[in-house]
Parts: sequence; structure tokens; C-alpha cells
Amino acid sequence: MQIKEIPVEGYEKVVEAKDEESGLHGFIAVHNTTLGPALGGMRMWPYSDREAALNDVLRLSKGMTYKSAVAHTGLGGGKSVIIGDPSMKSEALFRAMGRFVDSLGGLYITAEDVNTTIADLENVRKETKYVTGLSRESGSSGNPSPYTAHGCLLGVMACLERVFGSNSFEGKKIGVLGVGAVGSVMAREMSKRGAKVFAHDMREEKVAVLVEEAGVEPASEDQLLTMDLDVFSPCALGGGLNEKTIPTLGAKIVAGSANNQLLVPEDGDRLRERGILYAPDYVINAGGIINVAVELLPGGYKEEVALEKIKRIPDALHEVFDLSDREGISTSKAADLLAEHILAEGRKQKG
Ligand code: NAD
Repeated sequence: MQIKEIPVEGYEKVVEAKDEESGLHGFIAVHNTTLGPALGGMRMWPYSDREAALNDVLRLSKGMTYKSAVAHTGLGGGKSVIIGDPSMKSEALFRAMGRFVDSLGGLYITAEDVNTTIADLENVRKETKYVTGLSRESGSSGNPSPYTAHGCLLGVMACLERVFGSNSFEGKKIGVLGVGAVGSVMAREMSKRGAKVFAHDMREEKVAVLVEEAGVEPASEDQLLTMDLDVFSPCALGGGLNEKTIPTLGAKIVAGSANNQLLVPEDGDRLRERGILYAPDYVINAGGIINVAVELLPGGYKEEVALEKIKRIPDALHEVFDLSDREGISTSKAADLLAEHILAEGRKQKG
């Protein structure tokens, strides 16, 4: 395998691997390890070219630094990407990726991400110990989604508290876009706690189950984006909050699990100008990474420790909202500012 370091300003280490035998071509970016080793998922994607993969790994690893900082996981930010279609997956490919991860000696710790599964990570594990999020049976932290959902639910409550002075779901109108692993748990739970939940998913059968079992009402994506809601909860893909959707958004709060909800940073300002409270995605959806990070603590994974840490997501959100009010900036900018402040403190402590 050929491993080549690529100097990138603002990043601690960026490396590219090519392995002819397994067909691996990928990157690992270690953005920042001030607060601990760089943890972040391993993504597989049919990138159009090398530059697109490199840009993605840089953007994602920086995002992980900020997310982990605000969530106080004691970790830094990193990410890895494999260029390729998931149909070319093989044991050899992920074992090669395992050797690539191992070559950094623990500076980067990997986990599941888009198009990679626990089965793939088990192949990675054959070559390196720097893997998290394997099965619970193997002593690892298992599926992060229920923890992400739990953290998001607490985050929505913090937003309700902020806007309505009470964190009760009773009588609230909530729209959930995307009812997969995270959104379905949230929709059920909010409905159980007295909210009127409307849901949409491109896979209709997922909504049908919730209609049947949890009294959820189906709605179109357009309806969710424009109807008079207390909370709009994006739990599908990113980019949904943009120049087109924000002017007609009917919700008072936007709080959901989807990553990269704002298409561009200015969308945070657009939401603020409209008086809509936005829970920055990487703050509210940190439950999964908080859960995974517990694996790396002395003594290993303990669910009760993870749940205790996830309880602090509302505090992080209130801190962000306070900062946004004080500085007169969007909540998304306030989250970045908070992350940068935590990193600066970390640097000071390290000397
Ligand atoms: P998932 O794939 O289980 O669910 C996503 C759901 O959204 C699916 O049911 C899918 O059919 C639906 N969907 C996708 N595109 C859609 C569209 N255009 N219109 C309508 N529905 C659409 O994923 P998940 O694990 O529930 O994650 C949801 C979001 O939360 C993602 O953005 C993910 O990156 C983010 N997130 C998840 C976790 C986690 O622990 N699972 C952690 C952090 C962030």
C-alpha cells in the first residue's frame, strides 16, 4: 500500500492511501487532536474524482472537531473516506482500510458512516484496534441511533423550554421529515408524550407503521415545510434549510437529527431574521458520538455513563442560545464560536 501525506493548512495530518491489490483509494483527515484522538466515521462514496473525496474528508473531519468539542467527548475530529461504489465492497478492501487506519497509531479512530456497516468495521478490526461502534456483544457501544434519538428528544425539549417556557410536548404540533432509525424513535416518543406529530418519508411504509402504531398523521414534505408547527424536525438528509424553504417555513423551532441542515452558513442568519429558533445540527445530534466516545474511557463502555453525558445536550443548546442572544448572531455561528472557545481553552491547558 502506498501512503502519502498531503500538507493542508489548519489540519494536523491528511493522508492518502492507494492499494492496488484490494482496490483501495481513500483518505484519512485528522483535523484536530487538541481535546483527544480524532474520532470520526468511515464513509464510502462514489466520488466523481480525487479532489471531491479530499474536499469531503476535510469538511467532515473539521465538523467532527466542532461536534466533539461542544459535546465534551474528550475527543478530537477526524474522518476517513473510501472512493468507490458500495457494490465494490470486499473483506480485502476493508482490511486494507484497517491497515491504513492502523498506520496512524491511534491518532485517528474510526466508526460507521454513510455506506459502511458493522460487518465492514469488523473487517477493519482484523487489522487495527482503532475502531469503535462494533456490536454490543463484542463489548463495544453498538448502534448509535437510539442514543442520537434520545439526545435529539432532550434537545427539542430544551427548544420548547426556550420558546414556550415549558418543555412539555402536550398539545404541541411537530413535523418530522424522515422517519428512519432516528426520526421514527422521535416521532413515537413525542406522540406518546402528547404532541400531535405529522410525518413524511419518501418510503411511505415507514410512515404507515407510525400512523398505525403511534397515532402519527401523514403529511407531504411541502406541508411539513410550510404548515404552522411548533417544531419542524428534519431527520432525513441535509441541505433542507435554504434560501427557498426558509422564507415560507411555518415552524417556530427547527430541531432535528439530520447532519448539515443548513445549505450555506447564511441560512442560519435567515432563520434568525425570521425569529425561528434553530438547534444547530451538530449540537443536538451528538448523542451517538457521545455514546461511542464512552467506549474509549478507562473501564470501557457503560450505557449509564453515556446516558448521563447525553443529558447535557440541553445545557449545550442553552449555552449556544445564550451566546447567540448576547452576541446578536445566529445560533449556528454561536455553536461554532462555542466550539472554538472550547478548543482554545484546551490548547491553553495543554500549554
Ligand atoms: P436513516 O437512513 O435510518 O433514516 C433516514 C430516513 O429519511 C429514511 O427513512 C429515508 O427514507 C428518509 N429520507 C431520505 N431522504 C428523504 C427525502 N428526500 N424525503 C423524505 N424522506 C427521506 O438515517 P438515520 O440514522 O435515522 O439518520 C437520519 C439523519 O440524522 C441523517 O442525516 C444522519 O446523518 C443524521 N444523524 C444520524 C445519527 C445516528 O446515530 N443515526 C447521528 C448523527 C446524525
